[in-house]
Amino acid sequence: MLRDSFGRVATDLRVSLTDKCNLRCTYCMPPEGLDWLPTAQVLTADEIVRLVRIGVEMLGITEVRYTGGEPLVRRELVEIVQRTAALRPRPQISLTTNGIGLARLAEPLRAAGLDRVNVSLDTLDREHFKRLTHRDRFDDVIAGLRAAHEAGLRPIKVNTVLMRGINEDEAVSLLRFCLEQGYELRFIEQMPLDAQHGWSRAAMVTADEILAKLSAAFDLTPDQEERGSAPAERFLVDGGPARVGVIGSVTRPFCGSCDRVRLTADGQVRNCLFAREESDLRGPMRAGASDEELAERWRAAVRGKRAGHGIDDPSFLQPSRPMSAIGG
Ligand code: SAM
Ligand code: SF4
Repeated sequence: MLRDSFGRVATDLRVSLTDKCNLRCTYCMPPEGLDWLPTAQVLTADEIVRLVRIGVEMLGITEVRYTGGEPLVRRELVEIVQRTAALRPRPQISLTTNGIGLARLAEPLRAAGLDRVNVSLDTLDREHFKRLTHRDRFDDVIAGLRAAHEAGLRPIKVNTVLMRGINEDEAVSLLRFCLEQGYELRFIEQMPLDAQHGWSRAAMVTADEILAKLSAAFDLTPDQEERGSAPAERFLVDGGPARVGVIGSVTRPFCGSCDRVRLTADGQVRNCLFAREESDLRGPMRAGASDEELAERWRAAVRGKRAGHGIDDPSFLQPSRPMSAIGG
């Protein structure tokens, strides 16, 4: 098992398949993009599947989420999902994506064994979308969501980051859209993980503000279902069964029940989004390490996990890698 010194057990593995992306969301990447990882440093499909297999067979991983960067730009994605679904015990397999390309890939991914998808969408306004992502791809995202629904991927979750003065007035319309379409919406507080280091607490739209905006139009009651390690606080909308989630990563941290561990596209284990240290698995793997040696490095990496992200500590330092390179 992947147990840390506070007794938390990591069972949910987030794997970044690439640091590249076809959007430039302002809270994530600068418009000009970033210096992408050299191809030779990025794990091959075989290396990814080997590490995921070690996680599942030897370390108690039960859920695998593929992310990035944008995972749909990784050519071997369908193959990687298929090989993940063949592992035993079979893990739950999910994907976090901006939705571009999902119109074409939703069905092959479902057939390969994908269980669930989270699609990021911050606005329903094409002009806002362009301003926010520096790309005119709104229609592709909507088409991707529809295709995921038609392919039977359930539940479809939509991730939204609200930003002051940009899309903060869209909370209600986004929820209305998701209710109509049968998607579950989750608002995520903006975190200090952008490559430009542009985050400020004052510009962040807090969970309290989001709930106040939603409560003006909907009747929200806390979901009585056990929350477990889920980052989202969930609320029934107008008595349910539809729900909305709020992920207050900054103002309502859930580090105490965290069950996540991350693998970057270049094969580094990170025990937290905000960790300052990483443990290299790629180097030892390429030098011939055995499964057991890799598993032991991984266990050691999780053992050292800190109690919390410490965003409120005066000594807080933003991680040196941005979210797109860590795997969100
Ligand atoms: N490209 C995919 C996508 O956008 O869904 C996957 C990677 S992206 C880094 C994963 C999630 O992180 C997205 O829902 C995105 O909105 C969110 N995200 C990115 N930067 C963020 C930040 N600074 N604060 C909060 N969430 C962020
Ligand atoms: Fe790309 Fe996702 Fe970052 Fe947006 S949030 S720039 S879609 S990696």
